This record gives sequence, C-alpha cells and structure tokens, in this order.
Amino acid sequence: MSEEPRPPVRTCLGCGKKQTKALLRRLVLDEKNQPLLDRSQGAPGRGAYLCGPGCLQAAVKRKAFQRAFKKNVALDVTNLEAAFLRQTND
Ligand SMILES: [Zn+2]
Repeated sequence: MSEEPRPPVRTCLGCGKKQTKALLRRLVLDEKNQPLLDRSQGAPGRGAYLCGPGCLQAAVKRKAFQRAFKKNVALDVTNLEAAFLRQTND
C-alpha cells in the first residue's frame, strides 16, 4: 500500500501552465510592493509563481502580478529579469 505523495502544484503567472513547485520560481512582495525572487522558496506572505524569465513579460502584459498579489504592484521588470537571469546562470 504505497501511494505516491502528490507534489504541490502551482500555476505560472505568465503561461498559466500548472507545474510542481520545484519547477517554478516563487516571487514575493517586498515592503515597497516590489516583486522579488524568493530564493528560499519559503518566504512568508502571498507568493506568485513563474516558470522563468520568458514568462515574466507575459505575466506583465496580463497584469497577472496585480491579480496574484491583489494590490497595485510597483513592478520593476528589469530588476526581476536580472534576478532571474542571475539565478539561471548560477
Ligand atoms: Zn510559464
């Protein structure tokens, strides 16, 4: 009797694909309502998820951040994109 535990699944803000959390990047808001990459993947507060930098622009166009965080997000895409790229290149 062994049932595989189902890993938690989250939806990407950009493409809307459902993926396991391990394949997504978690974003949280800082005190200035600026989305940041949550490197620990476990920061407190509401999180939003993205597959990668490619989905960042799509999420911005869809205003998905505002919806996900339920507030007017002061989005600096350049910073966020750079953080994604840094992480990918690590
Ligand atoms: Zn995506």
